[in-house]
Amino acid sequence: MVWGRIRLKGKTGESIEKAVKELSGTRLRVRRMAREEGIAGQGRQVAVVGAGPIGLEAALRCRLCGLAVTVYEQGEVGEYLQQWGHVRLFTPWGWNVTPLGLQVLQQEYPRRQWPSAEHLLTGWQYREEYLLPLAESEWLKGCVRPRTQVVQIGPSRDGRTWRLLLHDANGVEQHAYADVVLDCSGIYGQPRWLGEGDVPALGERAARAHIPHGVVDISGTHRGRYAGKSVLVVGGGYSAASNVVALASLAEQHAETWVYWVHHGPRGQPLPRIPHDPLPERDRLAARANMLAARGDGHVEYFAQTVLHEVRYLGPEGGFYVAGHQRGQPVAWNVEQVIAAVGYRAVPLSGFVPELPDRPYYVLGSKSQPRSFLLAEGHRQLDAVLGRLIGPSYASVCARVASKGKRAA
Ligand SMILES: Cc1cc2nc3c(=O)[nH]c(=O)nc-3n(C[C@H](O)[C@H](O)[C@H](O)COP(=O)(O)OP(=O)(O)OC[C@H]3O[C@@H](n4cnc5c(N)ncnc54)[C@H](O)[C@@H]3O)c2cc1C
Repeated sequence: MVWGRIRLKGKTGESIEKAVKELSGTRLRVRRMAREEGIAGQGRQVAVVGAGPIGLEAALRCRLCGLAVTVYEQGEVGEYLQQWGHVRLFTPWGWNVTPLGLQVLQQEYPRRQWPSAEHLLTGWQYREEYLLPLAESEWLKGCVRPRTQVVQIGPSRDGRTWRLLLHDANGVEQHAYADVVLDCSGIYGQPRWLGEGDVPALGERAARAHIPHGVVDISGTHRGRYAGKSVLVVGGGYSAASNVVALASLAEQHAETWVYWVHHGPRGQPLPRIPHDPLPERDRLAARANMLAARGDGHVEYFAQTVLHEVRYLGPEGGFYVAGHQRGQPVAWNVEQVIAAVGYRAVPLSGFVPELPDRPYYVLGSKSQPRSFLLAEGHRQLDAVLGRLIGPSYASVCARVASKGKRAA
């Protein structure tokens, strides 16, 4: 795919390319810098859990600072993004990448064109354009172990290292050891239950396999499943809103489509509008969803202050029976489909995380902040945590790598 020329801090693609040429040989220089500056973490083995955007950026920083790092990924690089990749990101390319990541890519693929900073990519495009090439770069190649799940982490007997139980795609189990753990394993694999208080509703555990979660590809792959059907959407965030808006569009062509939108939140607008929202697509979605909830469209009925107690799957012909309470009054529906968009929970990989002197354990990325996490926040978090881990030399290594680019640009 050909994108517009990249612009970084007002610079054009050409000037970045020049900067990148200057950067060739950076690996050797960085290693030397690391030695000269006596990086605190040198010699330590870092285990990163998850090759999502934050895990890869974390690993890249560790490598730049000369630390040994292994990234364990249960699926493929950017696995969760691959699963919800039909969704267009609210945040533009410039918010989702880092100067360090871009410099590495420019260095490795000097002829390639990159999206412009303001470009809005889908999750799939972002994975293709940024995550996959980053994982394949000289810096990270060989560091990522795909199809290897970290099942559990705990301290080794002597309390000096972390012990990881790994489980690979062939069913083989293995232990690994690390001095530092960076848990970047995200939350997308652990959707919350529909029942009140994240306790499964009656019948929900058996029904779960038939209830998709998150933002469903209603206008694409799964169109046939929802066109002309009665659908109960549960949740009050942007994912629920995306589903409701997509179903309302579907109803314009398939008039039988009917949406029951259920949320435990207050009456009125389901989505708070952020004043002067810097992400216009997010605001547009909130405005459209709120309008639909206010019965701006005949195909959507919104039920606020509603909690669910029962979710039963009655088979392909019977659909679902869903029951609960709205402001204390019983409510129930028979619907053909249910979509869960009630968020995710962060499940610890370690039963307990004792304070091990000099053996840090950090939870980073979306797992550290399961609600409304943005990548830009994760990038700030990485600088703070790696700065603490590596010491004052972290900032100077990053600054020196970055300034090579800036000076040449
Ligand atoms: C529909 C949707 C739209 C979004 N839109 C935006 C947006 O516009 N802008 C934005 O900034 N953010 C957006 N987000 C938030 C987005 O999820 C995060 O910004 C980003 O994906 C978080 O990156 P991460 O590296 O923390 O976790 P993830 O991307 O979730 O990556 C976690 C990785 O860890 C792996 N993993 C999990 N458990 C294990 C294990 N036990 N062992 C080994 N590997 C494991 C997973 O397979 C996965 O590859 C959106 C999220 C969703 C769901």
